[in-house]
Amino acid sequence: MYDFKGQTIIVTGGTRGIGKAISESFLKAGAKVIVTYSTNEAAAAQFKQDNSQFAENTDIQKLDVTKYDEVEKFFKYIDTNGGSFEVLVNNAGIRKDSILAMMKESDWHDVMNVNLTGTFYMCKFAVMSLMRKRYGRIINVSSVMERYAFAGQANYAASKAGLIALTKSLSKEVATRGITVNCISPGFIVTELIQDLPDKLRETYLARIPLKRFGDAEEVATCVLFLASKEASYVTGSILEVSGGL
Ligand code: NAD
Repeated sequence: MYDFKGQTIIVTGGTRGIGKAISESFLKAGAKVIVTYSTNEAAAAQFKQDNSQFAENTDIQKLDVTKYDEVEKFFKYIDTNGGSFEVLVNNAGIRKDSILAMMKESDWHDVMNVNLTGTFYMCKFAVMSLMRKRYGRIINVSSVMERYAFAGQANYAASKAGLIALTKSLSKEVATRGITVNCISPGFIVTELIQDLPDKLRETYLARIPLKRFGDAEEVATCVLFLASKEASYVTGSILEVSGGL
């Protein structure tokens, strides 16, 4: 649908789930993709195998987005390899649900660190490079939970709402440099992240979704490609919901 030949895309947490679908869609659209993963070596190996036909355009890198030094080193690695990039997709995210009164301090910080602080680190270094280029697209993966904020998700919902604010603020700072910054807000998408939903809750959520089904990762990826495209040149600071109408 879109042509990304000659462009380099960074996708954090890009070897499985929604990130995998995003990485693969960019590869199919002709881009070079730097796919990062944090710890799951098996998923990284599987990604490599599944996309062997795009081997020349695929660069898989281990990166924990919560580590400032690692993020700095990652962007230096791109620089020193003579490379640059046009698109950053901040997809890495985790959930550690529990009602607030029972929530462990570490569960609060872990979720905030990956979902919000990790995105801040990635954006901070990416923006320096994109400003020199006077072109760029940043897409942050939020969630409809920023709006619904179900019980048991205070950490997750707060981190995803924070991403919306970060996106809007950054979009204003870099608009005159040809860089757009937008959010994708998925609803319920079939991935490992929601595998642990009890059947009863699954049915309750399904009943609420006007399209009466959970979404596929590919349906999120399509929307990410739109926001990353040159054609989306007048869209910035926006939130695109991919939720079956929730
Ligand atoms: P997933 O668990 O399959 O994937 C999460 C990815 O994040 C993995 O690739 C993992 O390696 C990466 N990650 C985790 N911690 C990291 C760290 N410290 N550094 C770097 N990468 C790290 O889940 P998913 O459903 O594919 O989720 C992808 C994104 O979509 C997340 O931000 C999630 O919050 C968001 N989202 C998912 C849904 C859904 O229903 N699946 C709904 C709304 C939003």
